[in-house]
Amino acid sequence: MTKINTVLGSIEVEELGFTLMHEHIFNANWAMRSVFGNWVDKEAGINKAVGHLKAARDLGVTSLLDATPINLGRDVHILKEVSERSEVHVIAATGLYYNHEPWMTNWEIDRLVDVLLQDIVQGIQGTNGKAGVIKCATDTDGVTPENEKLLRVAARLHLASGIPITTHTDVNEKTGLGQIEIFEDEGVDLNHVIIGHSGDSEDLGYLEDMLNKNVTIGMDRFGLDMMLETEKRVSVISELCARGWAEQMVLSHDACCVMDWFPADTFAMMSSQIAPNWNFSFVPGQVIGLLQEAGISEDQIRAMTHGNPARCLLPSK
Ligand SMILES: [Zn+2]
Repeated sequence: MTKINTVLGSIEVEELGFTLMHEHIFNANWAMRSVFGNWVDKEAGINKAVGHLKAARDLGVTSLLDATPINLGRDVHILKEVSERSEVHVIAATGLYYNHEPWMTNWEIDRLVDVLLQDIVQGIQGTNGKAGVIKCATDTDGVTPENEKLLRVAARLHLASGIPITTHTDVNEKTGLGQIEIFEDEGVDLNHVIIGHSGDSEDLGYLEDMLNKNVTIGMDRFGLDMMLETEKRVSVISELCARGWAEQMVLSHDACCVMDWFPADTFAMMSSQIAPNWNFSFVPGQVIGLLQEAGISEDQIRAMTHGNPARCLLPSK
């Protein structure tokens, strides 16, 4: 297969172009927002996302991977509207976040795979927009029994469909390594795995342990300086490029246009004051220049923004 699933249908891999590989357009709890009409301002959120994506498009971005898992409120109708209005390709995810939910206990792995596979094969929420990536996550608790189950769901979805896996990790607990162990155990070709949030780490030993397994690592939290400052993120990428790893890194912000983990006014204050660069334009507008100043070649930058996303997103079958 040479096509990539987007929320508006499939595109040729050559159409991807400059791709932000881990972002969030709309992150809001399904139950709360369906019960309370004022839980989040959906229209304002969509308008904000369209504005941010148009700004990134003006700087050269042509595609965006929305890594929002189903149970953080992934809503394909919103993603479709944002993609249509911004004229940026949006790749949606299927898969589940790490938080344990009561129903997860008694569902066997393969039954969950059968359910989620519908997002990839039939389309999401009754639309022709199919998932182009599988999301899973391991946080500070590491690979708990419940988390292991969800990682195996992601692995088997990949084996059944060929579409790649992208993850959330906690670098302090080096949880990418635990994820890799499970994927290897399931027989996943690690060329089709992106270990997310690796760019929060300055631990070159940890990063090279993962790179040596052939995964791609997400240097995907530019703008979140409270996790790691921009210049440190740039110098880690520069050192890894010098060591020959440019073909296994992708860039992004993990930015959220709407996020209900905080009340709206708190989130707006954080976005504007604490993390003012945490938006879809920082990488194309400023980080690329910093990578050039750090001596990273144009070919290496193009690999991280264009070539690696295309290779990663191309289904394995
Ligand atoms: Zn994320």
